[in-house]
Amino acid sequence: MASLWKRLRDGLARTKVQLSTEIDFLLKGQALTPQVMENLEESLIRADVGVEATQRILDALEEGQYRGSGSNRALMAMHGAVRDILTPGDHALKWADSGPTVTLVIGVNGVGKTTTIGKLAAKAGRDGKRVVIGAADTFRAAADDQLAIWADRAKAEIVRHQKGADAAAVAYAAVERGMTNGADLVLIDTAGRLHTKKNLMEELRKIKRVVAKHDPAFPHEILLVLDATTGQNALQQAKVFNEALQITGIALTKLDSTARGGIVLAVAQELGVPVKLIGVGEALDDLQEFDPDAFADALLGVER
Ligand code: GDP
Repeated sequence: MASLWKRLRDGLARTKVQLSTEIDFLLKGQALTPQVMENLEESLIRADVGVEATQRILDALEEGQYRGSGSNRALMAMHGAVRDILTPGDHALKWADSGPTVTLVIGVNGVGKTTTIGKLAAKAGRDGKRVVIGAADTFRAAADDQLAIWADRAKAEIVRHQKGADAAAVAYAAVERGMTNGADLVLIDTAGRLHTKKNLMEELRKIKRVVAKHDPAFPHEILLVLDATTGQNALQQAKVFNEALQITGIALTKLDSTARGGIVLAVAQELGVPVKLIGVGEALDDLQEFDPDAFADALLGVER
């Protein structure tokens, strides 16, 4: 099995190619002329790094006065800036001190919500944890079946009601089940689309309120899944969901399918919500816990 590091590096390969001309320039220690700086700025923006994070990276190069001189120390300055952008916040998934950890997983359809829940359940199962999955997307016909396949693979229990059932009731029942059977983790899938956005946000808020009736500490985590290939759209979604629900972490999927993996930096810079998981492929191990150092290394081609 390929190491996690190799999977991360391979997963970010397309984004790295997007930045490679400028990185090669820095590596060779060539002078950072205004033209090179302009090219660098353009490729960062094309990789979806976002205006603010791009400016921070350019500022770091200016401050180090690498601009006229040229040195591969410039690459390390860029690496430092990337790490500084990514580091704030607690990137570890939250775990309750005792009793089940309750995690709501939210996001629009197609971003990889079901896959992310399946991979998380499988990982927790491998770590010897008991997992209950709550199928609270009662709107989408096929959602339950997909989730049931993942639950089966992960040897997790699934709590599901009939299609069209009250989503909050399913979530409540799943948490109850987790509490009575001594589960370590209750993962709650939610709808990604309802008749209107307002309905969706209301339903999600209701789920949050209802699970808190078991224990005010629930849910411990509200994880928003975003698709990295959707760029600025993903940022927009995050703002809307965060306003409605105060998300505690982000899972950014499909980084392997895009040259715009710089979106991780834009998310970190602009949202103030930590990225906790990244998806770098479709295999089980391709959902990784986010490590800012490793990410900066893989993005800029610094070998570990
Ligand atoms: P949902 O509608 O949000 O529940 O999305 P799904 O979990 O069904 O995922 C949608 C598609 O994205 C599926 O084909 C997944 O295999 C794919 N997918 C999810 N995460 C990743 C990832 O990190 N990399 C790649 N390449 N595909 C992914």
